[in-house]
Amino acid sequence: MAPNDSQSYLDYNATTPVLPAAAEAVASSFAHYGNPSSVHAAGRRARAVVEDAREAVAAMVNAAPQHVIFTGSGTEANALALRGMTAAMRCNAVVGAGIEHPSVLAHVPENARIAVNGNGVIDLAALESALQTLLEPVMVTVMAANNETGVLQPLKEAVELARKYGALIHVDAVQAAGKMPLDMRALGADSMSLSAHKIGGVKGVGGLIIRAGVDLAADMPGGGQERRRRAGTENVPGIAGFGAAARAVKTLLDDVPRISALRDRMEAQMLAGVPRAVIFGKAAPRLANTTCVALPGVTSETQVMRLDLAGVAVSAGSACSSGKITPSHVLLAMGVEANLAKAAIRVSLGWGTTDADIDRFLKAWLPLAASAAA
Ligand code: PLP
Repeated sequence: MAPNDSQSYLDYNATTPVLPAAAEAVASSFAHYGNPSSVHAAGRRARAVVEDAREAVAAMVNAAPQHVIFTGSGTEANALALRGMTAAMRCNAVVGAGIEHPSVLAHVPENARIAVNGNGVIDLAALESALQTLLEPVMVTVMAANNETGVLQPLKEAVELARKYGALIHVDAVQAAGKMPLDMRALGADSMSLSAHKIGGVKGVGGLIIRAGVDLAADMPGGGQERRRRAGTENVPGIAGFGAAARAVKTLLDDVPRISALRDRMEAQMLAGVPRAVIFGKAAPRLANTTCVALPGVTSETQVMRLDLAGVAVSAGSACSSGKITPSHVLLAMGVEANLAKAAIRVSLGWGTTDADIDRFLKAWLPLAASAAA
């Protein structure tokens, strides 16, 4: 059931294949080409598509439909929370851990970065002392699950701390959606960001879920769409696909034990074959689909290229620009030594992953260790 039989796609955290139900919803939405803001029948049909998807996305995270704001990406949902909410609620600072996604870190000044432990879990004592020290009203931002390591963050405790000190709290759940249950009401956070293309929808659609009573200044001013909180004619096809993918999330969650078993077998065989390999965040609760592993002595880029030649798609745990390898900011924030971080890759599984994909990965990856040792 691999999305493309000629390739073993093990990069679900970068983006997922489009679910058939989502593709179908996108395609059938083309018949409803009206502008959702138009009052005539064509407009009303398009509006119905958007509102149907809104209900599905809200249900996925146990929120009310009127608290879902569609955006153009997870990145934009984070910006809307961290700029739009801080502006409306008069917060003067945003604090968050150094392991956050770049779309969040862009709003967290260097001196407001909270430490994480060696497994990549936010240091709650450091968060509490930041909340005690900062006299201004602040906003805390914390990701549900890290995109590189899969490490889960203590959301409940972070929300309690934020409440204790009267701070707002935003949760980036882009990577967690579809991989673990999310419940906006039970969590009690002020906002939560989502992205369609991480759960089988199409790229270019995101969502910000807000708590009742939360005020938000439009980050994108213009027309009055999305209850004046995000201007721009709605991406009806993308939103339709997001809704269909959200409805399929229950099936994705049912598949988690199978994925977890595949991932655990893969990690066991990696460590048995290459005892010097290092799996990051292994001692912390993690998403069932994600492995971030370093192969000392072999750069991320070499591994990614060799695996690609063998028909296996994974991500580098580091970025390469102008011939220079930059280690991942997530691993550096976890205190990982730069050279080890430069040898990290991320393997992320999903609903299309089979035993054969894991075998193909291992067959290509295990010999890389021998080439470095030689
Ligand atoms: N937040 C996290 C944790 C992510 O992993 C990503 C994407 O990789 C984003 C935000 C950004 O989402 P989008 O690609 O929809 O802009």
